[in-house]
Amino acid sequence: ARQIVLAQHPHGMPTDEDLPLREKTLDAPAQGEVLVRVIYLSLDPYMRGRMSQAKSYAAGVEIGQPITAESICEVADSKADGLSKGDIVLARTGWVDHAVIRGEDCRKIDPSLAPISTHLGVMGMPGFTAWVGLIVHGKVKSGDRVCVSSAAGAVGQIVGQIAKAKGATAIGIAGGPEKCQEVEETFGFDACVDYKTGDFKSSLESAAGDGFDIYFENVGGDVLFKVLPLMKEFGRVPLCGMIAWYNLTSAPEGPDMAPQIWRNILSKKLTVRGFINYDDIEHHDAFLQDMSGWLKDGTVKYREDIRDGLENAPAYFRDLLSGGNRGKMVVKVGED
Ligand code: NDP
Repeated sequence: ARQIVLAQHPHGMPTDEDLPLREKTLDAPAQGEVLVRVIYLSLDPYMRGRMSQAKSYAAGVEIGQPITAESICEVADSKADGLSKGDIVLARTGWVDHAVIRGEDCRKIDPSLAPISTHLGVMGMPGFTAWVGLIVHGKVKSGDRVCVSSAAGAVGQIVGQIAKAKGATAIGIAGGPEKCQEVEETFGFDACVDYKTGDFKSSLESAAGDGFDIYFENVGGDVLFKVLPLMKEFGRVPLCGMIAWYNLTSAPEGPDMAPQIWRNILSKKLTVRGFINYDDIEHHDAFLQDMSGWLKDGTVKYREDIRDGLENAPAYFRDLLSGGNRGKMVVKVGED
């Protein structure tokens, strides 16, 4: 099998030297195991944390091991009950083209319901993250004004559409005019503000109206500093990610913003709620029911950025961390 492994911990943006391609001979599956062939591999920002030595909510990848990932696979050989050759499954294979894994760690996918790649995006972890963050932690309700950063991305594009479905107003923040246009026209947000232009602050202030009830936080950095002062009293901040800081190698440049952030939280009496999607798994069935309905009736649209070749995964991952992706980043590793 071909694998992209962690050769050394990256310093800043991961390089090809940090993430080389290696060959590994796989054993035949033992009782209870399956051999899977990867079709679509998911690339997600959290993987940057797994490449690091810093302590986090999940253990890091060990040196020499493949980078963690979920993928959509075809079962090529099965010694596990309930799984047969040809089945399509969602599995945790890592950045590889084939893997031998336990059958009980695979979830069968029905390819007739939706394109199989969507189980890595809108119907999968990012869609669930948007749903749980906005509904369970953000407690969105009709009439709320919701702001979401990285609005054109896998999670952000869904957050705004769920907000609209719930009768709220959706304001996105994204990098560049093409992404902002897509957020407004394809995903139907009320407005999207480009954080890369000089008038970001004033455009965001106009879009905020009398303030945001919810800020769905995906990025941190300058975007966070500009949004927090625009929150309403008793606003809610589901804290999903802070991608602007994932490649930091030293303290961010500029003044220490901690006092201003803390003061905003205090004076506006904000509720900031960090969350990791898999802690809320009891809501997964409700999410699937909502999302499959919304996809069927056209309430929710989605965009995937499907690229070719496992060997290029490190380059695609760098694109993901620096805004080069258009929607959910997926690598096509084998034929579907
Ligand atoms: P996206 O598809 O949104 O891709 C990442 C995007 O981040 C880029 O396209 C880029 O968009 C934006 N970005 C990168 N650097 C910056 C920066 N300095 N300032 C502002 N935006 C930046 O990824 P996902 O939707 O998969 O993930 C979005 C966030 O959600 C991440 O922080 C991720 O870690 C988090 N997450 C958290 C989960 C949880 O359970 N808590 C689960 C899943 C994701 P642009 O071009 O607009 O700059």
